Parts: sequence; C-alpha cells; structure tokens
Amino acid sequence: MNTDKNSCKKCILNNQIKGVVIDNDGCCNYCKSFKPFEPYGESELLKIFRKTKKKKGIYDALVPLSGGKDSTYVLFLAAKKYNLNVLTYTYDNGFVSDYAKQNIKTSVETCKVDHIWVKHDEELIYNLYNIVLKLSGEICGVCGIGIERTMLKISEAYKIPLILLGHSPTEENSFTSENIYDQYRLKTILKKDKNITQQMVNRFLIYPNLNYIKSYLFTKIGRFGKKVNILYYLDNPTDKEIGKIIKEEMGWIEPSETEYTRHFDCIAEPLTNYIREKRFGYSRRLPQLSNMIRNNEISREQAFNIIWNDNERIQVNSFNEVMEKLNITENDIESISKIPVNVFSGEVSFSNRVFAKVRKILKRQAH
Ligand SMILES: [Zn+2]
Repeated sequence: MNTDKNSCKKCILNNQIKGVVIDNDGCCNYCKSFKPFEPYGESELLKIFRKTKKKKGIYDALVPLSGGKDSTYVLFLAAKKYNLNVLTYTYDNGFVSDYAKQNIKTSVETCKVDHIWVKHDEELIYNLYNIVLKLSGEICGVCGIGIERTMLKISEAYKIPLILLGHSPTEENSFTSENIYDQYRLKTILKKDKNITQQMVNRFLIYPNLNYIKSYLFTKIGRFGKKVNILYYLDNPTDKEIGKIIKEEMGWIEPSETEYTRHFDCIAEPLTNYIREKRFGYSRRLPQLSNMIRNNEISREQAFNIIWNDNERIQVNSFNEVMEKLNITENDIESISKIPVNVFSGEVSFSNRVFAKVRKILKRQAH
C-alpha cells in the first residue's frame, strides 16, 4: 500500500502529474470536482433508434467491434437488448490479439450479425507505425485515425445512419494531453520520411482532405452515419458487471491476468503503455483506475495492487513480437522514450482548431 504523501488520499493520482494539485487536506483537484455521471436517459436513446428504424436501410447501426469489453457490450445492447439490425466491423490494426479474434467470432455468431474485417496492406501500416513512433513517440494515433476513417467509409458505403460507439463516460479524463488524432499532424510527421508517398498517405486516410467541419457537415446531410456514444445514455452496470453480462450472453472471454484492462484486444498496448509511462512519467492506468475509485468500482488499495502487478509483469523482452512487426530495436525504444511530450502538438489543421473552439463555446452554453 502506498502511503506516499504526494498521492491523493482518495485516488491514486500524485502531484508529479501535470494538472494534478493535492490540497492540504490530502485530496486532489479531480476528486474534489468529481460529480457522478448522469446519463442522458434511455428515452433519448430510444428516440434516436425510432428515427433510425424509419429510414428502413439495410442496417440500422454500425458497431465497430474490437473484441474488448466495451465494444462487445455495445453489440450486446444494440443487437440483443434493442433489437437493431446491426453491421459489425473490425479494423485490423496489425496487432489484434488472439483473445480479441476469438471474442469477435463468438459474439458475431451469437448475435447472428454480419461482420467485416478491414485491413490495410501490412507493409504500409507497419511502415507508418514505425515512422510515427520514431518521430512522435506514439502509434495509437495512427490506429485511431485508421479506425475513424474506415468506420466512416463503411457507414457511407452501406448508408448506415448510426454508428454506435462504446466510449465509457466514466473513462473521461485519460490525461492524454497530446492531440494525436489530428490528420494534419499525422501528415506533417509522415512528410518527414522520403519513402512515404502522397498516394500511400491518401490510401491510409481514405478521405485525405477531411476535417472536423466537413465531417460534421457530412454527418448532418446523412453521408456519414451519426456517431452515438450509447453508454452516455444509460445507467450502466459496473465494469465487473459488464464483464459478467457479456461472458454469459456473448460467450466473451478475457485473459485472467489482465483484470480491469480494457485494451488486451491489442498486443501492442503493453509496449505503447511502457513508452508512454517513460515519456509522461506515469502509467495511463493511473487516471483510469482513479476514475474507477471515484465511481466506487474498486478500492484505492485494489488500484495500488493492480499497478504493482503491472510493474512486476511488464518487461522489455515481452515486447519481442511487437518490436519485430514494428521493425524496432531496444535501442530504438530507449530513444523513443526520450521524445518530449506534446511534440508536433502545434501541427493542428486550421479548420480543426476553429471547430474545436466553436464546440467548446457551444458546450459551455449548453450547461
Ligand atoms: Zn484524487
């Protein structure tokens, strides 16, 4: 048990983390300003579903499926609870774990829904990861943009009005101060490598000139499906209960040693987390577990134990398979770990910057 006076007495955040302030009473600013999540309400969700049904398309909704806990639960809700006509798809980022593949197969069969695998040419995708990792210190942005674009493309191709996402409302602040999902930023990084052609970048981006404004408008006119975070509307069971539901209803499985990890679906996650921990000075599990403490899902002591076990388990030599795919060495990892935080963060497209500001103002007015 950590009794460090630099840590918050309620959660496991500490004052070494940028933005975390521990008061004299030993409580951090996140615990102090914490308000339990209030869902928008199921009736709002049902309204959206009724509108969708009226469109009488081939499918009511697209569910991106990673084989992890949240997306499997979304599929359960969409197909089994709300009886929507669902198309599922998985973006193969080159690191899909065997557990995830098994879960995808089982849940798709259980729900009797159609499923599509989308995969870029392996050489192209691993090349992009390699370059972006060496220059910016992370690869999750590449995968995130890949998921986003293929998701929009499928919704457009099949004219699916809704895209149901499994972002968890209690996972709000992950302290990702790096905006790694900006297309302009990705393009800037890739331009630094002579072997990457414009055509390769365009192939990856699918919509090479898309920005937030266009994306917003295309959604408004119905070219792209409307993204709905289904978990924001509902009074959700705890993480543990969700696991129980999908195990019983969807035949879902998880590796026994990774309790409370949402990302065992990606075999690159331990490595990206390792590098991230070195760059940021803390694990991304820290804010995630702290959120769970505030939501009364686990105790502070349990959280410390989980972090402790993580540290025991993670060793560089367990990254071999991923390092081989990424074509990087231990020396590369050393130098990547020294890349400062927020590198390339100024490389944001103008329209995205404007849109982010407008959204912030609108959000403020809505409250
Ligand atoms: Zn706290």
